[in-house]
Amino acid sequence: MVLGRADMLAGTLLGTALGDAIGLPREGLSRRRAARMFGPVAGHRLVLGRGMVSDDTEHACMTGQALLRSGAEPDRLGRSLAWRLRGWLLGLPAGVGFATLRAIGRLWLGWSPATSGVRSAGNGPAMRAPIIGACLHADPAGLRAATAVATRVTHRDPRADDGALAIALAAAHAARHGAAVDPAALLAEARAACQHDESRRALAEVEAALAREDTPAAFAARLGLARGVTGYVLHTVPVALHAWLRRPAAFREVVADVVALGGDTDSVGAIVGALGGTVVGAAALPDAWLAGLCEWPRGAPWVRRLGAALADAYPDGRARGPAAAVPLWWPGLAIRNPLFLAIVLGHGARRLLPPY
Ligand SMILES: [Mg+2]
Repeated sequence: MVLGRADMLAGTLLGTALGDAIGLPREGLSRRRAARMFGPVAGHRLVLGRGMVSDDTEHACMTGQALLRSGAEPDRLGRSLAWRLRGWLLGLPAGVGFATLRAIGRLWLGWSPATSGVRSAGNGPAMRAPIIGACLHADPAGLRAATAVATRVTHRDPRADDGALAIALAAAHAARHGAAVDPAALLAEARAACQHDESRRALAEVEAALAREDTPAAFAARLGLARGVTGYVLHTVPVALHAWLRRPAAFREVVADVVALGGDTDSVGAIVGALGGTVVGAAALPDAWLAGLCEWPRGAPWVRRLGAALADAYPDGRARGPAAAVPLWWPGLAIRNPLFLAIVLGHGARRLLPPY
């Protein structure tokens, strides 16, 4: 099946949103405790059977907007993304990684997007990578340059570069080959692009786990992550790639697989959601999960508009040039963000109670 370009790119972004939203209630819980509190992963559990998205989806959407404004020209991309991140922090997001927080602080203090990144190998840049790979799937040099810029605005550890690039390449393979993605070819390309030996070893582990036919839980346990997947990029990325490559078109099952592992569930869910969504397209995402997404002003219709605008600007896997960003009624965030923060704090309080 050949997907329409707008359906595919909306699938990347809405897949991110669904994986993020399904994962978010379990974020930071161990695998065992999450199962005791929530049971098997079946649907939204944030509040009243509904779900909301966190920083992972917001960053993916900001990256999409920066891709529109810049036409993937690296300096413009960096500046556009940096201004969006500065503004995002002013909205007092409920979830922000420590490295990202420090980097945006530096942006506000006058550092440039090329120097604002801090030494961290967190998974933040990996959540921004899928939309870059899906947009630039036919432009390898442009893909690498854009991923590097979008990484270094917050992180400047070579492992963060490697992890984000591996995810961007995975999304590019998904855009090119759909469900027929070749794990060996993807992993070989990603390994060849790595700067750091640890990254190469981590990708070799993914290939070995696929050969052994490990389940996601068995692979996580082998990496020492039986209690949950951490936000270290070389934990998050191998687990996400392995789970997705086992069955690239099984969107719902793969999101459920990784969310059940516990730990940084929203980020790992967002990454596999993005890759799976690129394969199946927005129209094939689970209806019940989409219907349960309770978001505004960045709701599903807005995300679809962003996907359509990116499809116009990147019609064939290359940039056609700068374009207008998709209008967002950002004052709405002043209502949405405090509500979201209250719900997140409610979850924190709930966790003080059993079951432990
Ligand atoms: Mg998050």
